[in-house]
Amino acid sequence: EEQNLYAEQKTKELEQAKQELEDYANRLEESAQYKSNFLANMSHELRTPLNSILILSQMLYENEHSNLSKEEAGYARVIHSSGNDLLTLINDMLDLSKLEAGKIELVMDEVNLSEIPDMLKPSFAPVAENKGIAFHTELKEGLPPTIRTDGQRLQQILKNLLSNAFKFTHKGSVTLTLHRPDPAFIRRHIPSLPQENAVAVSIKDTGIGIPLEKQEEIFEAFQQVDGNTNRIYGGTGLGLSICREFATMLGGSIAVSSMPNQGSTFTLLLPIERGNTVLEAAAAHES
Ligand code: ADP
Repeated sequence: EEQNLYAEQKTKELEQAKQELEDYANRLEESAQYKSNFLANMSHELRTPLNSILILSQMLYENEHSNLSKEEAGYARVIHSSGNDLLTLINDMLDLSKLEAGKIELVMDEVNLSEIPDMLKPSFAPVAENKGIAFHTELKEGLPPTIRTDGQRLQQILKNLLSNAFKFTHKGSVTLTLHRPDPAFIRRHIPSLPQENAVAVSIKDTGIGIPLEKQEEIFEAFQQVDGNTNRIYGGTGLGLSICREFATMLGGSIAVSSMPNQGSTFTLLLPIERGNTVLEAAAAHES
């Protein structure tokens, strides 16, 4: 009799605890939803006035017949480039919140590999020239003509990696190479990806490099190699964490190898065709 009462009491307590946990999970879900809606709305509200700032400041410094002095046109240029930094930050925060909320949907398409360098050259050739750094692109042998992936997101990842490469390099070169990764590399990063289903894009720079103990950390949100990075180079530390999340969504992975003062190589490993095995690999990789 006593034992029965005890068991009943325990069952009740367990039920209650379960209910409390469920309520708590619901509240968490609700607040996550609230946060992501808030960020989405804020981003929109911030972007609208920012667009005017960007367009008008550009008109100011590009207008050949303006009465602005050289110095004043220089100020307009600074307004424009600071506005651009702000836009990047807003877009990154929005992407991250969408990623966290699982709200990013991929648009899969056939992407022509030989078009990738041409897609990126217009954005980075001027940066390279400005800094006096060479920008090389190469397509190795044995690549398939196309891969099935989200072209927009792929472009976003590569642009992010390239802008880091140019940002942290002061002399030498940045080289983007499309190639078939070797089996050991694949085994290390996505063991379940068959070699015949893998391609890789490497971005190699001759820049400041990254100490070994920081090479994993930098993929976490808001992590930079040192506190001063932000002051010297700008940036928010969001880029790489977004890149890695996107790479995982595409069934791929991003790895880095680097030596301080010699340079870094970031390699994006991607499936040619994203099948179920790769989806599982991505899930395993995430956990
Ligand atoms: P951000 O560039 O905005 O700081 P990222 O997430 O893109 O943010 O990069 C995080 C940090 O990783 C950078 O602040 C920098 O310290 C380091 N890093 C990234 N790419 C490179 C690179 N190519 N060379 C040297 N350091 C790099």
